[in-house]
Amino acid sequence: MATDYYAVLGVRRDASQDEIKKAFRRLARELHPDVNPDPKTQERFKEINAAYEVLSDPQKKQVYDLGGDPLSASGGGGGGAGGFGAGFGNFSDIMDAFFGQASQRGPRSRTRRGQDAMIRLEVTLDEATFGTTKEIQVDTAVVCTTCSGEGAAPGTSAQTCDMCRGRGEVSQVTRSFLGQVMTSRPCPQCQGFGTVVPTPCPECAGDGRVRSRRTLTVKIPAGVDNGTRIQLAGEGEVGPGGGPAGDLYVEIHEKPHTVFQRRGDDLHCTVTIPMTAAALGTKVPLETLDGIEEIDIRPGTQSGQSIPLHQRGVTHLRGGGRGDLVVHVEVITPSKLDPQQEDLLRQLAKLRGEERPMGEFKPGQQGLFSRLKDAFNGR
Ligand SMILES: [Zn+2]
Ligand SMILES: [Zn+2]
Repeated sequence: MATDYYAVLGVRRDASQDEIKKAFRRLARELHPDVNPDPKTQERFKEINAAYEVLSDPQKKQVYDLGGDPLSASGGGGGGAGGFGAGFGNFSDIMDAFFGQASQRGPRSRTRRGQDAMIRLEVTLDEATFGTTKEIQVDTAVVCTTCSGEGAAPGTSAQTCDMCRGRGEVSQVTRSFLGQVMTSRPCPQCQGFGTVVPTPCPECAGDGRVRSRRTLTVKIPAGVDNGTRIQLAGEGEVGPGGGPAGDLYVEIHEKPHTVFQRRGDDLHCTVTIPMTAAALGTKVPLETLDGIEEIDIRPGTQSGQSIPLHQRGVTHLRGGGRGDLVVHVEVITPSKLDPQQEDLLRQLAKLRGEERPMGEFKPGQQGLFSRLKDAFNGR
């Protein structure tokens, strides 16, 4: 093997077609004889052309990678022998190198990637805490089975556009005071696709996709919250011309719970107990997400006190473990007393020396203030 074509273009042996093309364009711009007429540079220019001719053509590249020289095999005498312009398959790439329009040139593809789609999914607090699997119905564009996404009626196929001969654009020479000006624009007959579909598929009207309702199974991980999005790759809309599908995002909406309010991964609730129970202490049953648990109200519990139940909140989405369940206690003062109850309370007050309490004064509105603070925190 005389020449190392990869070294000539300065690319790795595993370079992609895109990298090869970029390397070639950069060198072509630098070494083109019009820019750089020096004979040595011209020699180099021939070399990069030969290298590109081989490496940009999958068949020639394969021959070369297996140890052959595709240029001497097909051209008879080597790529460089013909000189600039002879046996030169890549003139348009040279033009691209100079005008930098490679990506816009040529017909555009009928196939494009589809859009992402999003659907909302309601979950209960219980499902958010422990995770679940749900079936969802999605309406998205799917590949048309009648035409396999090609858009042509069965038995027919897309044909090369005769107006632009498949180029996807038409050129026009106009005379102006600047001289002859050539302009090109997308071909009006094929909208730039380079092909026309004479008989569109009756099922999808030539779009290559149809809308369809599917059932998907979504795994909801433990710890999701309002607004969490679960990405299902490739489950979105199929693109025009049967192009690859976008992604589907499932956005979680958590239904409010009748008792618990969620703040982060902690849960909060309030239990109201009568004054007597707060003074004497009691146990009250609470149905937590993990089943019924006895809440231990200690003797002498004050209104506003909170009782945390560790690890009874929502699972942390990352890192495992769970938040807490916080039970806030509200003590209710009896507002209607019958004569016997009133008498008993008076006796109690007398026993405790509380018949004419002086009270204890503090600045501000402490009780109200803490309640406002709770309101801000969303309690
Ligand atoms: Zn179709
Ligand atoms: Zn056309």
